[in-house]
Amino acid sequence: MALRVEHDIFVVRQRGREVAAAVGLEHQDQIRLATALSEVARDLLHTVGGADVTFAVDLDEQGPQRVRVDLAPVRPLPDGRYEPHSGAVARLVDMLSVVDREGDTVVRMSRRVPANAQALTPERLVELRTQLGSSAPGSALDELASQNEQLIAALDEVRSQRDELAVLNEELQETNHGVMALYNQLSEELEETNRGVVALYAELDEKSVQLRSASESKSRFLANVSHELRAPVTAVIGLSRLLADSASDPLTAEQAQQVGLIRSSATDLLALVNELLDLAKAESGRLEPNWAEVDLRAVFGQLRGTLRALSNRTDVELVVEEPPPPGMVRSDEVLLAQVLRNLLHNGLKFTERGEVRLRAELRDEWWRLSVADTGAGIAPELHERIFEEFYQVPGSTRIGGTGLGLPYARRVVRLLGGTLEMTSEPGRGSTFTVTLPVGRG
Ligand code: ADP
Repeated sequence: MALRVEHDIFVVRQRGREVAAAVGLEHQDQIRLATALSEVARDLLHTVGGADVTFAVDLDEQGPQRVRVDLAPVRPLPDGRYEPHSGAVARLVDMLSVVDREGDTVVRMSRRVPANAQALTPERLVELRTQLGSSAPGSALDELASQNEQLIAALDEVRSQRDELAVLNEELQETNHGVMALYNQLSEELEETNRGVVALYAELDEKSVQLRSASESKSRFLANVSHELRAPVTAVIGLSRLLADSASDPLTAEQAQQVGLIRSSATDLLALVNELLDLAKAESGRLEPNWAEVDLRAVFGQLRGTLRALSNRTDVELVVEEPPPPGMVRSDEVLLAQVLRNLLHNGLKFTERGEVRLRAELRDEWWRLSVADTGAGIAPELHERIFEEFYQVPGSTRIGGTGLGLPYARRVVRLLGGTLEMTSEPGRGSTFTVTLPVGRG
């Protein structure tokens, strides 16, 4: 097609749309190509006085097929370059540029033919060429009318898209409201839960303060009462001893028996008071270990000597093994000896026959001091209970005691940085083990 006068612009545009439709471009793309073409045609008419327009199809086997329009200017382009008047033109097609066509400079644009369009074979192209050749180009008015129609359709589409957008916006807003409401509700619930947790913690704090102060007053009470009791009980023991003394006035046999009872009861009472005092001291934190390097061999030797007197029964043997060298531990000698004596004493008390054995073993910087007996043992469900204050296994009360020895021993061992554990098999015996760090715990 020759583009020489203003009117040709309409014809070129119309032909462009017809070609685009013939090769199978979608409606919108037909208008895009036609519009781009008429813009470029107008530019070239005004700058170089016209062009020869060729429509072609690239029948490239690979890749998509393209419809291509070449506009060969009638006079050379200024500086050999072409810049569309409107920047938007380039966006209407896939490619718009100045190319060299067999030595001539042409402005070329092209657009992809969609994959679903009818395949463009050479035969099909012959067919299309005939078809397009037979249709007469319309007048400028026809093209204007069709352009108007396209414009109205485009406007309609814009309006319907705007309506759709408005609906979408509304939906989005509604969703946003929903999300906000949910969020508010969640954060309110969270806040409420938080308030609850804070209140709970405050209550817990308060309770633990109350508990601590109750436990402190108990220890204080025990310490005071036992301290106050010690003096009169000691006096009772002293007086009863005096009464029974041979230097005093002679007593009748019955009186002597009664005075003996008073004395032994008072002695038991004093033991209880002393244990209570010890425990109260340990609990109130007033018991301060006197840290020193303690020689276990000396402690064991002393225990062997003092407890032998207690175990002068032939059917129970007290065995105190020699601790392995170097036998040193950083601890409080008096407290440690007190704990071991207590455990050995229990072993001897609750063993009818067999032996009670004290042994020391050194394992990885820890001393394990165990007191094992072949006594009646303790039922598994009572293993922790015997460490409670005043608890005595039913049936063992007749043997005597207060139920304060083990809880006190455990407290002292903890104070010394160690632990006191027990294992027992009813009918075969029990083992109490004190584990202490070699250095200070
Ligand atoms: P106590 O010996 O003064 O009764 P303890 O606190 O030392 O108090 O011991 C609590 C209870 O644990 C004892 O009354 C006894 O029932 C049980 N018990 C302690 N040592 C042994 C042991 N070696 N064998 C069996 N029972 C034991």
